[in-house]
Amino acid sequence: MTEVAPFPDELRDWAAGLREQFPIITANPGSAYLDSAATAQKPRAVLDAATRYLTGENANAGRGTYTWANRTTARIDQARDRVRGFLADPDPARSGVDFVSGTTEGLRAVALDWLPGWLRDGDEIIVPYADHSANLVPWLDAVAVLARQGVRVTVHALPYDAAHDYDYARLATLITSRTRFIAATHVHHVYGGDMNVHRMRAAAGPDVVICLDAAQGAGHLPLSVTELDVDFVVFSGHKAMALPGTGVVWSRNRRGPRFAPGGWSGTPNTAGIVSLVAALDWLDAAGTDRIARWTVALAARLTDGLRGLDPYEMLGCQTSLAADSPVQQRHGIVTLRHRDIGSNDLGFILAGEGLMVRSDDHCQSPQGERTTSVRVSLHVYNTVDEVDRLLAVLTGLSSY
Ligand code: PMP
Repeated sequence: MTEVAPFPDELRDWAAGLREQFPIITANPGSAYLDSAATAQKPRAVLDAATRYLTGENANAGRGTYTWANRTTARIDQARDRVRGFLADPDPARSGVDFVSGTTEGLRAVALDWLPGWLRDGDEIIVPYADHSANLVPWLDAVAVLARQGVRVTVHALPYDAAHDYDYARLATLITSRTRFIAATHVHHVYGGDMNVHRMRAAAGPDVVICLDAAQGAGHLPLSVTELDVDFVVFSGHKAMALPGTGVVWSRNRRGPRFAPGGWSGTPNTAGIVSLVAALDWLDAAGTDRIARWTVALAARLTDGLRGLDPYEMLGCQTSLAADSPVQQRHGIVTLRHRDIGSNDLGFILAGEGLMVRSDDHCQSPQGERTTSVRVSLHVYNTVDEVDRLLAVLTGLSSY
């Protein structure tokens, strides 16, 4: 039996104070936004920073001689340092920060602009077949591009264990002298588990390049590249409380060629980057460690409530969902199915109750779930009452 940790009541006032800072949340008291894994809501500080910039000194970057343009150029350079700080970068003089439109574009850029220069004929890579498609398709595309040039690369599937964590013991047995690259995910977007990537380097050995999809981790829990010896971190600003259309590729540039995305990049998303800086400031001030404690506790409350409800099936780790679990924690994501009500119908029923969840196949790669499911995803602005409201509606549907 899993021991359930006491709910962190000391965080209730703190979380309630942060919730007040989200205009869209306070303007809609009858609704509960439970879809933060799709996109996060924005605190007032982020909205104000973007408005201040757009109404104060909006200009293009790197292309002017006047103050607004120079200040915009400087802001974007400073934003790179802000990202380095957010990620606890130990070697900021060497690392790169490139702004892209989101995780999907960022992973594609690593796959198509960097990976082909690192791989040689006969090399092997290991990629996840049950994570988000954005973290599988580009690697397979890169291998296909290389194959057309006569460079053969073997692709292995990153193994999972029964709890949907990566199976690090089996991974170690897949590593050979030709293994050059592993793509991994920080927090799983369907199962919600922390994929324990701090264990990846020991399993992979010192020379393998590791690329981390941190779309569901950034802003949800501490993310330190001093602690995680990975080579790339890619995330989407919009899931980390910034405006949409802003993503980050952080590159350590210690193994393999320097990351330099190809092509002419054009005008950057200046207002988005301004909003990203404000979002990272906000998240650091709130404390990603506390945010993690709150969302893990809310998710544990939901899974504890669901566990006794017969018609529901929870996806992912079943045995170690409590907030104090040393094995695996759900970072605010709980995905479920009802035995008799289709997931799309369940999504509509919940929407009718003002509960905004996502119901579909969640863009999972081919080894993922075959049937649609309902994903509940929480952030720091969600409350115990919202979780209990959801549980009450689900309980009411249990004898359907
Ligand atoms: N990876 C993961 C784990 C995700 O959850 C998502 C978004 N659902 C993506 C990548 C793609 O992010 P974006 O749509 O912002 O590019």
